[in-house]
Amino acid sequence: MKIPFLDLKRQYRTIKEEIDSAIREVVESGRYIGGDKVSSFEEHIADYIGVKYAIGVSSGTDALLASLMALDVGPGDEVITSPFTFIATAEVVSFLGAKPVFVDIDEKSFNIDPDKIEDKITDKTKAIVPVHLFGQMADMDRIMEIARRHGIAVVEDAAQAIGATYKAKMACSIGDIGCLSFFPSKNLGAFGDGGMVCTNDESISRKVRMIREHGSEKKYYHKRIGFNGRLDSIQAAILDVKLHYLDRWAESRIDNAEFYNERLSGYVKTPSVTVEGKHVYNQYSVLTDKRDELVDFLNSRGVPTAVYYPVPLHLQEVFRPYGYKEGDFPVSERISRSILSLPIFPELYQEEKEYIVETVAGFYKNQ
Ligand SMILES: *Cc1c(COP(=O)(O)O)cnc(C)c1O
Repeated sequence: MKIPFLDLKRQYRTIKEEIDSAIREVVESGRYIGGDKVSSFEEHIADYIGVKYAIGVSSGTDALLASLMALDVGPGDEVITSPFTFIATAEVVSFLGAKPVFVDIDEKSFNIDPDKIEDKITDKTKAIVPVHLFGQMADMDRIMEIARRHGIAVVEDAAQAIGATYKAKMACSIGDIGCLSFFPSKNLGAFGDGGMVCTNDESISRKVRMIREHGSEKKYYHKRIGFNGRLDSIQAAILDVKLHYLDRWAESRIDNAEFYNERLSGYVKTPSVTVEGKHVYNQYSVLTDKRDELVDFLNSRGVPTAVYYPVPLHLQEVFRPYGYKEGDFPVSERISRSILSLPIFPELYQEEKEYIVETVAGFYKNQ
């Protein structure tokens, strides 16, 4: 059996007619930038998340960038985040001339460890960016309490966590700003790049709207530095269709995760749900001390795997100038050597899931 890690064509086939007609409508309208499709999708996301404002942008990376720009993060500033995330989270901090200050993760949730944040706060700290890794939210009560006490902003990186909850609150509704990505492999994926900035703060929402539009509110009158950061109309139309299915797809991911948890728990360390709320499993990531051998065994038998992430950010070449070194964040380092993700997408067939768990079991029975 040859199983895909993620097959977006399967999802498309289930909603082809609706998607095709949404695309056709945009193409025939002649309105390809902005317009009703973008503003109505923004309203639907704001309703879904439960925030006052949602601003469509060109990617999750640009959502983070525009958010930090709206907070006036710049040279000399520090931004606290996790070293165990996709590069974009910290890259945008460096891009603005500020310093990413890493705080190690909790070994169960893989999210930033709130116990270790306060030690890293200085008078230069402008923001904390918790990442809701793999679809499970960071410990937001603790993080918000620390941030409020020090007068620091919180920007949620919810690129992997649309629809996830923490004590009945949606990802992106708790921090000062929340960032979403619509990269095709995310739980709500476009047919290209896209992102969204969510906030309840009117002034931040106005700034982000300006920033995504070259710093202007009125065409050809520029108040600040921005960039071309808009969400395409065609992507908004596609995403608006898909938003109706998002919760159902999340339920399928949760069902798949429960199936794996039950069948794999004797062999590998299955994911822990550590906060009160919903884990939406953008990735299903297990721990094993035989990671590389297991990867080879699975891949050679048609079971694809992925490693998120093989190198924590503090050890990435690009961040070498900051002087971080091996041993600085031992939990992230250890986990990056033992983590492994299995296919979890909603349209997996039952026989594929059976084959995956049997193949993992086969590896351990041969040991
Ligand atoms: C995907 C992702 C991003 C970036 O989103 P893009 O839409 O690809 O720019 C940022 N942070 C995390 C944690 C991500 O997974």
